Parts: sequence; C-alpha cells; structure tokens
Amino acid sequence: MTEGIQQRITEHLMNLVRIRSTADRPEELHRAVDYAVQVLQDLPAHRYESNGKPSVVFDLSGSKTPEVLFVGHLDVVPAEDHQFEPRIEGSRLWGRGALDMKGPDAVLLALFETLAAWSPRPPVALMLTTDEEVGGENGVGYLVNQEGWRARFGVIPDGGENFTIITEGKGVVHAVFTAHGKATHGSMPWQGDNALDKLVRLYETFRSRRPQEPCGDPEHWHETLTLGSLHGGDAPNRVPDTAEMKLDFRFPAPKTTRDLIREIEEAVAQVKGVEWQPLSTGEPFYTSPDNPHLQRFHRVAEEVLGRTVAFGKEHGATDGRFLAEKGIPCIILYPVGGGIHGPDEWVDLPSLAQLFRIFERFLQTLQP
Ligand SMILES: [Zn+2]
Repeated sequence: MTEGIQQRITEHLMNLVRIRSTADRPEELHRAVDYAVQVLQDLPAHRYESNGKPSVVFDLSGSKTPEVLFVGHLDVVPAEDHQFEPRIEGSRLWGRGALDMKGPDAVLLALFETLAAWSPRPPVALMLTTDEEVGGENGVGYLVNQEGWRARFGVIPDGGENFTIITEGKGVVHAVFTAHGKATHGSMPWQGDNALDKLVRLYETFRSRRPQEPCGDPEHWHETLTLGSLHGGDAPNRVPDTAEMKLDFRFPAPKTTRDLIREIEEAVAQVKGVEWQPLSTGEPFYTSPDNPHLQRFHRVAEEVLGRTVAFGKEHGATDGRFLAEKGIPCIILYPVGGGIHGPDEWVDLPSLAQLFRIFERFLQTLQP
C-alpha cells in the first residue's frame, strides 16, 4: 500500500514538475491548476482568478469554513531548462519545485483523491494558488480577503525541514523612506540640509532598539532590521537634497504590523522632511501548543515517523501570514529535501509517502 501511494505521488510530482509554472508564464500557471482540477474531478471545485493568477479551492465541508484547510502553491521560481525534466536516482527526485512545493502538492492531490471515497467525507478543504513566489496577494491573500475563505486550522507543507512542525513565524514590514533637504557645497554644510543624513539618523534610531549581532540567541527569535537599500547624492563635496532608503523589519508575535507601523510613524515624526510608505506587510503567526488540532497532528506525526518530532520557528514570510491575519492558527512543515530555489532542488520520495500518512491519519482523528 505504501509503495502504491508513493508511486501515485511520484506520478503527480513528475507531471507537475514538467509544467513550467513560473510567474512569467501565465498559461503554465493555468495548466497547473487545470491539472489539479482534472485529478480531483470528483470533488467540488471553486475556481478563481485575481490579476491573472488562477487558483482553486476543493471544499469537502460545503461551508467555506472547513475544519482543516490545506494550502499549497503550484508556482515555482525560475530554473534552468533541465530542472523542468524530473530525474529520479534512488529515493530522490530532482527538479524545480521538488520540495518547494510540488512534492507536497503531489501529496495533497493524492490525499484528496482518496478522500473522495471516505464516508462521511471529512470537513476539509484544499487551496491551491499560483503566486506564492511573488507575494501571495492574489492567491491566499485574495481568497481570504476577497472571497471569504476561513478555517479552524491551516496546514501549509511549505517550510521548515525534515518534518519539524513550525508553529511560529515572524511578521514583516517592508518600507521605503524618502528624505528632502537643501543642497549646498560640502565645504559649508551648515548652509544646507543633508537628506542622506536624515535617513542615516532614522536608521540608527530603529537599529539601536534591536539586538545587535552576534546576539547570543542561537534561535535569533527577536526583532531584526535590514538596511536593504540607501541612495542619495553624487559627490563627496555636495550636500544631497534628496535620498531614499528601504528597510526590512521582522518581528515575532505578539508584536503586530500595527505596532511596528506606529513605531515607524513616531520615529519619522522626529525627523523633519522625511516621508515613508509601507511596501508590503505581513502579520506574525503563533499557534499555541494547547491547540487541539496541533496536539493531534503532533501525535500522529510521531506515530508515523516513529520518532520524536520537534516544534520550530520560521524566519521567512509564508502564506501563513494571510491566515494569521484572520486569526486562523496554522502549522508549516516540509518532508525531507533540499536545494530550494537553487540548481539542485530535490525531495526524498519515501518522505512524501510519510507526509501522506501523517495527513491521512490526522484527518482520521477528525472522523466521528
Ligand atoms: Zn540574533
């Protein structure tokens, strides 16, 4: 049985890898969604499109608020040609998206294929989108904000490593700051108003409030700030009158994007001639260890793997932030694999079958 399932998952994965579903190939994004719809043709499917990004939700709950919502994305980052032809060696499959996340997608397709035969069908749904690698606003963001999809619990097999269950993720704010001042000759700076100087002072204000590296915390579960870009001026002997800076703020719960934005506003108000705008924001997520779904999921994961399974934290933003914004607790996990976004992305095929078993047993615990 396990071999049968692994074979089925591998078939789906190979078919998905061959679809070159990168952001610059809209017709391939549609092909990926069409493939899922064709595989799960016996299930109720709700298809959507937002700004050219197709998505689909297979809903067995009939309520738009399933007990458990599985979330996957069918898009991948660009790759070399050969990476779109899957290659199997031993227990590994190489190809773009093998781990991120067409491997997990293949598991979800195989899982929902089997759910069609369950009686009663469990109150769950599968959401598949095509824009996660370019921000998720027209995928999970659109589906929860515009189409009203909710859930009691979200499962996103798109992060972490080797089945570690991610229960916390940092929030993020990307912001651009522009400063205006007065140009003058560098020999008489008192006659001007240095725009770059304003941004440097602002940056130092934010930086001084956050831990400096090395911080001594191996998890680095603290706020971070990255100065991603700083532009202004053109010569050493000229005071610049305009400048621009882009910052990346990350923060764990319970801080919210609102708290962070208030901090920015207060700091900007202290420096004359600076304006700012958020470029993108995402809430942190935190799922309590007391959550009953999390506890059941953890138990079946340890049963299936025959070992202890740890909880973990994720630094990068994921689609989990859109669920967090709606108060939906969620978890994130990956099977075994590596090389995400690189030239040698791979996944361990038996670990995909294990992921399938974990999901299947987890859903059995929901059955009456
Ligand atoms: Zn640190």
